[in-house]
Parts: sequence; structure tokens; C-alpha cells
Amino acid sequence: MMNAIVKPTPAPGLVFQECPIPQVKEHEVRIKIHTTAICGTDLHIYNWDSWAQKNVPTPLIIGHEFMGYVDQVGAKVTLCKVGDRVSGEGHLTCGTCISCRNGQRHLCLHIKGVGYHVPGCFAEYFVLPETNVVKLPQSIPDDVAAILDPLGNAVHTALSFDLAGEDVLITGAGPIGILAAAIARHAGARFIVLTNHNEYRLNLAKKMGASTTVCVPKESISEAMLQLGMENGFGVGLEMSGNFSAFNDLLQHIQPGGNIGLLGILPPGGTIDWDLVIFKMLTIKGIYGREIFRTWDKELHLLQSGLDITPVITHRFPAAQFQKGFEAMMSGKAVKVLLDW
Ligand SMILES: [Zn+2]
Repeated sequence: MMNAIVKPTPAPGLVFQECPIPQVKEHEVRIKIHTTAICGTDLHIYNWDSWAQKNVPTPLIIGHEFMGYVDQVGAKVTLCKVGDRVSGEGHLTCGTCISCRNGQRHLCLHIKGVGYHVPGCFAEYFVLPETNVVKLPQSIPDDVAAILDPLGNAVHTALSFDLAGEDVLITGAGPIGILAAAIARHAGARFIVLTNHNEYRLNLAKKMGASTTVCVPKESISEAMLQLGMENGFGVGLEMSGNFSAFNDLLQHIQPGGNIGLLGILPPGGTIDWDLVIFKMLTIKGIYGREIFRTWDKELHLLQSGLDITPVITHRFPAAQFQKGFEAMMSGKAVKVLLDW
């Protein structure tokens, strides 16, 4: 048996309990988990909101951000061996749909998420198909390796557009917004402005590369642009708040012809001013997860070329004290919280 963090019943909360150790099938790899990280998705599951109620079967081991060591391999595994230091892609793809056959696994028509559709990694042992495993270069520290999944979301969003010399507006300073600011800085953007209502997170964003921040509603994007001497609006906007008022604010301040990445999940029923999209001839791209595996390559290369994301790791707890980790996340005074196994 092994310890795991489990959603036992369709109700709020999580429990730390014993579960059977999973066994591998022919093309699967078992990973002895070393470090995991809590994602916003895990908070949705903890709180049992409407998204979680629609998507998560119970009982289920949750979690999808991890690093560890390969501990057992299936009979037909050729891509990794026992002892390999690894992380991995948490979206399971079918391999047979038109997207998978076209080599675009991230667009799989039958995609499943570990930790919310199928058993996750908040456990001592975790099983993944060998084609989802990512071997870690020695230069990537364990703690950074545990958050390659959210870094990948930020890389996928930010690097969907040419950032060199651009002014970039990021609405939402959650972990992915802050990581996107660091990436935009590394990629050669000129001004990077982040908006949020949480001063703690905005302060961290400044340390990570933001030129300035806007604490809404008491500060405005227009004021920030004036301070920076910007005349023409932002060439790139990254919406990471999942908030319609922030998205509308972004549309107001983007240049004609600008590019927008939408990562924040917007609630049903809201609306935007479509005139801004049409008359400014904006391009909007929806983003989910990572490109498998182009994004993984890029993020490892960014880290190896000097991108430092360690300041986003603000808390760590032993896995058995996961409750403290979730409380830290919900307090708004934490960014990435690690759990050690
Ligand atoms: Zn597929």
C-alpha cells in the first residue's frame, strides 16, 4: 500500500489515505514520486466547484505536477529505464485520432487529464504511459522540475507570439501570469505590465521581470502606460485571470492588429466588447495545456539559457500536511506550493 491525497466522495475537501500501489501495463512506467506541486485545478477539486463536479469521478487520487524517479517499467517500454529522473505530460492522448495521427497530440480529440479524469500523482507511486514521460536534464533542479507543467502553460501562451521588442500586457498575476512575465522578459519584450488585485503577487511579478504592475481597481492600465511613456498600446496581451472585466480592460489597451492569448478560464455568461476585436482587427488564440512535446523542449531550453523561476516557489510542506499547502494557496499569499513525498 502507499499514501496518497484522495478526493474520496463528491463533496468539498481531500484526505490523506492508503491506496494500493499501481502496477504497470506493457507500455507504462511507474514513477516513485519525489516532489509535487499544487495547481489551481487542485483547488477547484478541493472546493468541489461546478467544474470539478462535472469532470472528476470519485474516489480519485488527484494531482498532476510532479517529478520523481522511474521505479518500474512495463514489458514493452523502450523509452526509459528504472532510475531515470523524470517529470511528464499529464494529458493522456489516444494515439489514433486525426490530431494524434497528424503529430498534434495536444489537439487529441479524446484527451484525458491525470489527477482529474484518471488517477493523479499526489501519491508515493504514479503510473504514466512511457510516451508521456519527460527525462530531466541534470541542470534542472528538483523543485523546478516539479513545476514544469505550469511553466509549460506559460511558455505555450507567451511564446505563441513574437515577444522581442513588444510591449506585453498580462491580466492576472497567478502563478502562470507571473511565469509568463519572466518568460516575456527572457524573450526580449520591452515593457511588461501585469494587472491583479493582489499586492503580494504583484510584488513577486516585479521581481520576476514585470516593468510595472497595476493593482486593480485602485490603479489603471492607462496610468501605467503614461508612466512608461507608452503611446500606442500593447502589441501582445495575455489573459490569465479568467475575469471578464480584466479581459475587457485588456481589449481596451491593445494596439490595432495586436495578438491575444486566452489562458484564463472565463465563467459562462459574460461578454466582451466585440467591436474592439473587429475594428482593431485583433487575433485571439485559445490556449490549453502544452504542445506535446514542443513546449517541453522550449521550456527546458529557456531554463538552460538562464530563465530563473525559483522565486515563484513560496512554500513547501511534507505531503501529509497537504492541508496547510491548500490553505496557503487559498490565502492568496502563496504562488507555487510544493509537497514532498
Ligand atoms: Zn488522439
